[in-house]
Amino acid sequence: MMETVSRDSADLKALILDWGGTITPWHQVDYRAQWTTFADGYGTMACSLNNLAATLLDAERTLWRRVHDDHSSGHLREIFEAVGIVQPDEDYDAATLAGIEAYRTFWEPHTFTHPAWPSVWEHLRSRGVKIAVLSNTIWPRSWHEDWFARDGVSDLLDVQVYSSDLEWAKPHPKIFEYTAEQLGLDPAECAYLGDRRYEDVFGAQRAGMQGWWFPHDGLPPDQIVEVDVTPEVTLTEPDQVIGFFA
Ligand SMILES: [Mg+2]
Repeated sequence: MMETVSRDSADLKALILDWGGTITPWHQVDYRAQWTTFADGYGTMACSLNNLAATLLDAERTLWRRVHDDHSSGHLREIFEAVGIVQPDEDYDAATLAGIEAYRTFWEPHTFTHPAWPSVWEHLRSRGVKIAVLSNTIWPRSWHEDWFARDGVSDLLDVQVYSSDLEWAKPHPKIFEYTAEQLGLDPAECAYLGDRRYEDVFGAQRAGMQGWWFPHDGLPPDQIVEVDVTPEVTLTEPDQVIGFFA
């Protein structure tokens, strides 16, 4: 499947990509298991492990609901503050750090760059196109930078924008405008590619970028916001983007 409603690519100077489900292949993840893993690393007694995991999962869902509703950014730390594991002014204690390490290890298999992207990015860069990532994430920038470094692609990214560093999250227009600004470009010179029609396609178009869609059928229904939007481009394989740059 590859369809185009408009192919006015003459002025496009950057490809900005979503991370989860776009740069990384979409995986079904057991969201409860991530918190059971945290609770185990944290050293929770077996009898209360499931309770802590359930409480953390609830806190995470509340956080993401807020992000979806008001397009403000969220941070992993808020989840721990919500359940009282850390107080707002405190540093993490050793148990929390051990829990976070276990949680991060749980996520690691889902953080790998799709193997087709690096050569696509190299090709586009050789033609003067800038490449960037713009991600809604509750994780620290350093985690994402580590994963890109592991995959050997850090040098292929001109700009990396993470909502956890900022006040806003997609589809807030400011986070798209901020990314264009970091690239030294006008939003109209950028195409944004993502797997979500609301956060990615609608958000990009509202900010004056082209909104390109990279669909898969794995998005959980409760994460989908219905929106009437028409992507300029829909594609299913990374190398298809090359044809859309003049
Ligand atoms: Mg995504």
